[in-house]
Amino acid sequence: MSVQGGCLPHVRDGARRPAVHERGIELDRTLFYPQGGGQAGDTGVLGRANGEQVGVVDTRKGDAHDDVLHLVRADAPRLDVGETVTLAIDWPRRYALMRLHTALHVLSCVVVAPVTGGNIAPGKARLDFDIDMSLLDAAKIERDTNALIARGIATETAWITDEELDARPELVKTMSVQPPRGAGRVRLLRIPGVDLQPCGGTHVANIGEIGPIRVLKIKSEGRRNRRVEIALR
Ligand SMILES: [Zn+2]
Repeated sequence: MSVQGGCLPHVRDGARRPAVHERGIELDRTLFYPQGGGQAGDTGVLGRANGEQVGVVDTRKGDAHDDVLHLVRADAPRLDVGETVTLAIDWPRRYALMRLHTALHVLSCVVVAPVTGGNIAPGKARLDFDIDMSLLDAAKIERDTNALIARGIATETAWITDEELDARPELVKTMSVQPPRGAGRVRLLRIPGVDLQPCGGTHVANIGEIGPIRVLKIKSEGRRNRRVEIALR
């Protein structure tokens, strides 16, 4: 586990949102990614000035836009409002999630079909496609995905307005996960020459960091959900 970033966030004033604090700890800023878009929430620790460490077992979105709730065990020490803590995420776990998440972007360009679902967990990730089973060949998918990853292309983020996105519905491949709207703008992940789609998740800076993937299995989860499950090699 390693500290990512040097900020010293404060525990937010609990009086303003007492209900939120029953579910988790809210900080004025954070590097923890909350569960969303099919990606698991970060785990890690909050370090107190007295040396005590409070384990974060999961991270969720709060009620308001950009609010992040750090979930701790029921018997964890209670933090004081206004207290300054240092944050550390479980970086090996998060980095594996970033690699798997970015791998799904590449996979979505190898299997050309509407995406009906997806999930990224430590150890494995999957996309569901609305496609005929006969068109899914595990060996070919693995080979084509790894060939794209081996091109080592740098990823880029770009922002467009909600209106621009509305005018380009073809950008939204994932029918089950609508892009996060409401902030007036939507973040896009671009892998130049490969993929461009709205995504609020975490990605590696270069697809080469993913390394080779393997297809664990392909199975039918219903007529419109043909599941392709992958793992890092
Ligand atoms: Zn993404």
